[in-house]
This record gives sequence, C-alpha cells and structure tokens, in this order.
Amino acid sequence: MKLIKISILCSLLINICSLQAQQIDSEINKSAIQVESKVIEWRRDFHQNPELSNREFKTAKKIAKHLKSLGLEVTENVAKTGVVAILKGKTEGKTVALRADIDALPVTEKTDVPFKSIVKTTFLNTEVGVSHACGHDTHTAILMGVAEVLTKHKNKINGTVKFIFQPAEEGPPPGEEGGAKLMIKEGVLKKPDVDAIFGLHINSGTEIGKIRYKPGGTMAAVERFVINVKGKQTHGSAPWSGVDPILISAKIIDGLQTIISREAPLVNEAAVITVGKITSGVRFNIIPNNAEMIGTVRTLDPSMRALIIKRMNEMVPSIAKTYGGEATITFQNNTSITYNDPNLVKKMLPTLYNIAGKKNVFLSKATTGGEDFSFFQEKVPGFYFFLGGKSPQTHNAPSHHTPEFYIDERGLVLGVKVMSQLAIDYLNLQ
Ligand SMILES: [Zn+2]
Ligand SMILES: [Zn+2]
Repeated sequence: MKLIKISILCSLLINICSLQAQQIDSEINKSAIQVESKVIEWRRDFHQNPELSNREFKTAKKIAKHLKSLGLEVTENVAKTGVVAILKGKTEGKTVALRADIDALPVTEKTDVPFKSIVKTTFLNTEVGVSHACGHDTHTAILMGVAEVLTKHKNKINGTVKFIFQPAEEGPPPGEEGGAKLMIKEGVLKKPDVDAIFGLHINSGTEIGKIRYKPGGTMAAVERFVINVKGKQTHGSAPWSGVDPILISAKIIDGLQTIISREAPLVNEAAVITVGKITSGVRFNIIPNNAEMIGTVRTLDPSMRALIIKRMNEMVPSIAKTYGGEATITFQNNTSITYNDPNLVKKMLPTLYNIAGKKNVFLSKATTGGEDFSFFQEKVPGFYFFLGGKSPQTHNAPSHHTPEFYIDERGLVLGVKVMSQLAIDYLNLQ
C-alpha cells in the first residue's frame, strides 16, 4: 500500500516536472515565433548591406543598438568590430556563451532576391561585389532574436548568458589580426568566465527544419604551408651540372601524399594534404634556382594533426637533401579542429530533439572545411551544429561562397528556438 502511494507520488512529481519543462518549451517557442518577422527583417537588412571581415562597422552598430534597447550590458569594438552583451538571469550560476559570426565575403551575388546585395568594394586591388555568401547574416539575425527571447524570459535563466557577435570569421585581411582568436586574446571568455559555448552555421544543402551535428571533430583544422626548395641553376640541356628544384618539388609532393595514404590512421578520421600552387622557372631550357609551393593540411583528430605536421617537417628537408638540394617548410594555422565535446553533445542532444523533433536531428559526417569557432572550443567545451536553410523543393542547392548561394528564411526561427533553449537547459544542468 505504502509502495503504491510512493509510486503514485513519484509519477505525479515526474508529470509535474515534465509539464513544467514542456511549458518552458512552449513559452520559448511562442516568443521565438513572435520575433521571427523581426529576425527576417534584420537578416534582409544585413544581407543588403554586407561588410567584409574587420570592416563590419554598420553591422556592429545595428547589433549594439538592438542589444542596448533590450537593456543588456553591451561592449563594443571587441576584436575591432565585435559586440558582446551580457544577460544576467534570476540567479547566480554558470555562464553560457552563444556566438554568431557577422562578416560577409568578396563574392558578387547573383540571386534574384529583392534584398540582393549590390555593394562593391576593392579587395586585394580587384573590384568585386560583397555579399553574405556564407549566410553569416542569418547567424547575426538569429542571435539578435535569441537575445530578445531570452531577455523576455530572464526569470527562467539560472546563470548568465554571454552573446558574442564575432567579426572576421572568414579571416582578417592580410597583415591584420581578427576573428575568434583576437576576441579570446581580448578576454571574451573571461569576466564572467564562460563554462560552455554554442554556435550554429546555416547550411544551404540541409533542408529547413532539420539539424545536423557530429560529436568530436566536425570541421577541420586548417593549416597553410609554404615550402621553399633551393636547387642550383643550370642549362636545361645539362642537368648533371646543377640541382633541379622542379624535380625535387615533384618528389616532395609525392612523398607528402604517402603521409596521408600510408601513415595516417584513416579509419579514425579523414585527412588531406593539398599543394595548391607551385611557382618556379622562367623558360624551357633553364633549370631554375628555386621553387615555391603553397598548400593546405586538413585534419579532424588532434593526434593525426600532430603526426602529419611532424612527418611533413621531417620529410620535406630530407627529400630535398636526397636529390642534392635544400628545402624548408613553414606552417600558418588558420583554424583549429572544430571539436564538439562529446560529453556536452550527449547532454544537450535532448534539447535538440525536443525543439526540432527527433526525426529532424541527424548525425552527420565531418567536413574538411574550417571554422574559427574552433578557437573557442580549444578553451571551453563547445557544441557547433548545422541548421537547415534549403527549401524542400530545391535540388542541388548552390554551395556556400558561391554567387548563387541562397537561404530559405523559413529555416531561421528554428535557430532562434534551439539556441534559446540550449542556453536555458545548459544553465539548468547540475
Ligand atoms: Zn564561409
Ligand atoms: Zn561561414
């Protein structure tokens, strides 16, 4: 009898708890739907007025104006044009950061949307159009919407939410610092210290209403490398009297590809080495003095990344030496591995299921593109996922960074719902 009473009490408590959870969801849901038309309006405005990395002056002003109108603590000019806002909830607790990138690209838009960008600029001495060909306009608008929704429901927030509007994700102009790296350097993850960070990327190839994610390495670490090969110039008819840097370059390229095909444990994750540019020589009958090669390495696993870079450093000078020349290799790191903390993903997956519906949340493969959200994830656990932006009737949607890139705005409201609920649910975790 007593047991039955206890079990009735338990199930009653469970029901009350789940009712409460559902209620929270439905209120956030309602507020997200209410803010949807504003999010679309903001997105169209950003889309029509795109600004390149580290030049997001008007964009940042609009973001800051909105955040101030919500009564948040706003800091401007973080990492040049970044905006950061803090929302304090009803109690002290953990701090969760939500990040949106805000920059556009030097791509001339060729869509027929009424809010198409006709902005032009000079980029690296070439006249070019500017457009949001990666969809960062949608990220900015979504996070502005999330800020509005969460401010409205701050009595549900057990802790602090930090909104990070980040410039220059596509990379700062040559010779400048920028992006997530500079934000971290300027202390964006401190005061208050961030416990976890969430970010999303709209995806032109994933249908609206759907979310894709992957625990662990989801986007690649991007390394740029430069190899300088030194030979000895001679007449093209008498190679034995010189050292041929072009032949050495060919041997190096061949050798580098064996690191991927014969040394990297490809069952763990994919990895890529690409030589994208070779410069050498002046005419058909001269063996030149030197050659330069520029390329990229993409890795998704920290130990594979270390192995591949170590082997490249060993192999390049030794191959050159074998053929009587010399070679050096230098690396520049553009992004780290976008690494989704498996524990955090596990904890937050129920939120994605609740909001998007379990059938709309897909486990996906990694991509070998890079994303500078990875630098935040090097410092704190983070979860980065992809939000559908493709119209259901579209096949072969144009990819990101192309003139025809297109996003169906009906997909944005799910981003507002998910990011808002992730913040609330994360702060409620024990
Ligand atoms: Zn991009
Ligand atoms: Zn992007």
